[in-house]
Amino acid sequence: MRHRSTSSALVRAAGIVATAWLACGPCVAFAAALPSPETVAEQLRDAAMAGHDIAYPWVSELTTRFGPRPAGSANEQQAAEWAAARLKALGFENVHIERFPITAWMRGNESAQLIAPNAQPLVVAALGESPPTPPAGLEGDVVVFPTFMDLKSAPPGSLTGRIAMVSQRMVRAQDGAGYGAAVAARTDGPQEAAQRGAIAFLLRSVGTDSHRIAHTGTTRYLDGRVPVPSFALSAPDADQIERIAALGQTVRVRLFSSASYVPDAHSQNVIAEVRGRQRPQEVVLLGAHLDSWDQGTGAIDDGTGTAIITAAAKLIRDLPHRPQRTVRVVLFGSEEVAQPAAPGSTFGGHAYADSHRAELVNHVLAGESDFGTDRVYEVSLPKAVAQSEFAKQLMRVLTPIGVLAAERLTENVGADVGPSVAAGVPGFALNQDGMGYFDIHHTPDDTLDKVDRTQLDQNVAAWAALVWLAADSDVDFRSHAAPAAAPQP
Ligand SMILES: [Zn+2]
Repeated sequence: MRHRSTSSALVRAAGIVATAWLACGPCVAFAAALPSPETVAEQLRDAAMAGHDIAYPWVSELTTRFGPRPAGSANEQQAAEWAAARLKALGFENVHIERFPITAWMRGNESAQLIAPNAQPLVVAALGESPPTPPAGLEGDVVVFPTFMDLKSAPPGSLTGRIAMVSQRMVRAQDGAGYGAAVAARTDGPQEAAQRGAIAFLLRSVGTDSHRIAHTGTTRYLDGRVPVPSFALSAPDADQIERIAALGQTVRVRLFSSASYVPDAHSQNVIAEVRGRQRPQEVVLLGAHLDSWDQGTGAIDDGTGTAIITAAAKLIRDLPHRPQRTVRVVLFGSEEVAQPAAPGSTFGGHAYADSHRAELVNHVLAGESDFGTDRVYEVSLPKAVAQSEFAKQLMRVLTPIGVLAAERLTENVGADVGPSVAAGVPGFALNQDGMGYFDIHHTPDDTLDKVDRTQLDQNVAAWAALVWLAADSDVDFRSHAAPAAAPQP
């Protein structure tokens, strides 16, 4: 929703200032008359909302030229080289690629059939990092657990020779909270099943659609490997198995996967900067990931995130004067197959935090765009500034484009900047509407046609305004100095 009268008043006010300012050009004599940071933030917001030629062409070209970009693949590497070349062409500074080693996982052929009480095809996707079946496939009786808690309550040895299936449903919620509640079954289900003797693991897709497509996603290593072949079922197939089991009949399935590992692969982070004019050593970090799952083309996960942060930084780069602090864009590699606990299998967020550890003390703020393309409805700032003048100024700029101040601050700002935030860098989040995201997330349907240009532009507007205000300030986002009489509720 837009507050038209307020917005257009801001456009008019900003336009007057912009005219005077742009006419000045590079003349030093007028340096003292720079427009206020808030005025510049309004101009950035309005320029993005009016449509521009960076974000959509970026995600269109990325997904069209390189298609799916699984971590460690040639597609991912070529996309990184393309991104670095484009960032240079857009005028960013210090553009470079930082490589790191990974063990890549490659989907092979895969299939699943119900073979008792009758024959039916099943729609599945092997879960990332999960091992292949024997070449002839495997068969077993299915034990259905309504929730992941039920699987974890099953006694040791109770699944010997059988296939465990968790049919827990994901709750649709604007803030994506249903994902966190459901995804543990995917990450940890295979090991819980294997520890009870299961020969394979099946999962109702972690998603909110009712289409006959399966949502892949990564699973966690236990002692350096995923212990059993593991698959996501489409929601209608999970429903069907549940109903057959409820009739008291034995459900038997045959599973096949020829997934494989490439132990000496590499992935990479792409880095670009708008150098600060006064304190360039102080960094505002913007993250998104270039890799994607292999079934779609990674348009909403996370092509749009890379487009949003690149476009926001480009709008800032093209201003007549630089922000005081440096704006750093990092397009991370190998986000989807995160295995931080596994030796030799790092991923982009950890690789960045490790190789920039000495600099992190000067990272003043970090945020990540990795939730598709739906509009930003809420901003969450570090606790230290949630009630500050900075926050009030930001809300004056973001309220006209329909952004609320978060009542509950976001603790987990994302997997890519997560290791940096864990090392003490303050994190912010521009929360996007997640009602539709998990219909498509990690499926073959993650393709360019799902990207809404108007919503993409609203994201760029919010990012450009927030990043500018943070980068052109001396606000300490770490400090917990608060007004004396205001205890936190
Ligand atoms: Zn993602």
